[in-house]
Amino acid sequence: MSLAPYACDPARSRGRQHAEPDHTEGVSFVRQVHQRDRDRIVHSTAFRRLVYKTQVFLNHEGDLFRTRLTHSLEVAQLGRSIGRALGLNEDLIEAIALAHDLGHTPFGHAGQDALNECMAEHGGFEHNLQSLRVVDTLEERYPAFDGLNLSFETREGILKHCARRHAQEIEAREPGGIASRFLYGGQPSLEAQLCNLADGIAYNAHDIDDGVRSGLITFEQLREVPLFARYHDKVCAAHPSLQGRRLLYEIIRQLLSDQVYDVIDATRAALSTHRPQSVDAVRALPALVNFSPDGQAQTTQLKQFLFHNLYRHPQVMASTDWGRHVVQTLFAVYIDKPTEMPPAYARREDLPRAVADYLAGMTDRFASREYQRLRA
Ligand code: MG
Repeated sequence: MSLAPYACDPARSRGRQHAEPDHTEGVSFVRQVHQRDRDRIVHSTAFRRLVYKTQVFLNHEGDLFRTRLTHSLEVAQLGRSIGRALGLNEDLIEAIALAHDLGHTPFGHAGQDALNECMAEHGGFEHNLQSLRVVDTLEERYPAFDGLNLSFETREGILKHCARRHAQEIEAREPGGIASRFLYGGQPSLEAQLCNLADGIAYNAHDIDDGVRSGLITFEQLREVPLFARYHDKVCAAHPSLQGRRLLYEIIRQLLSDQVYDVIDATRAALSTHRPQSVDAVRALPALVNFSPDGQAQTTQLKQFLFHNLYRHPQVMASTDWGRHVVQTLFAVYIDKPTEMPPAYARREDLPRAVADYLAGMTDRFASREYQRLRA
């Protein structure tokens, strides 16, 4: 893998928070820092739980819908494809992509909103910040420190947005660290910018698939979206007898592939305008990983369509209302009776935060079982 000068070079990593012994002596093969990060994430507890966490459709609603785990794998795949074409650090892209949703609560965004409301008086709850908390603090894997002790670059990519007050807290702990850009401006690495974009490309495409498969949205509705209508016409013209699932997959395949090329071309153009010679130069420039203006407009229309027709569909709302109710109920029960939680959480000083951490770590099905067990 040859890295472009603007890529994150593992040999120049800003390193880890806790010093670790050098493992290079006497071994014939050395894993690079971001490769190690990726491996640590794959072996983490929070990563395994993603398989039972809702993306859009509640986990138990069907075996074929995306979960947080398959979503994260798709983000990693798209990120690596684009990143390879641009000469970026694929290990870092994969690490960020696989970790980007580790902090999600059960029951998707409804779960996160419910937990944020429960935590309103206690500092709030934000899934992105929680992803960082998982890798920095909550994973228990090492004798000498909490968390996974990931590199600066992976942590920078995980913290993709951050409210000012949280940024100030992080900045106080690590001056000039990963939260600085939210206070003083600047961009993260191209690998981080790319994961953010790949996240959107992945969910737009897979939510069309899951939406149609579930019967909640139809081809006719989707034709309202110019981007979809264009590929629908194109595929039907090339394959007049194609129908159903194969037609849908061919449309999504072409749509995904053209979005990937659009991002590669637009980003190459931005790179040749600005010519950054290092990742620090990248951090001082505007965001360089982008769609073309036309690609961006088309993607936004698709996103808005999915918001109104799928995420706000009465059937999706009904199941997410259930998730909201479960999270609210469990939060109240654990605050009232901390000993219903495992001792490590029950004896923590900041009880609301302990409850939020415990709840956020749950899978959909574990939260549902706890609800059955504890509701009076
Ligand atoms: Mg995501």
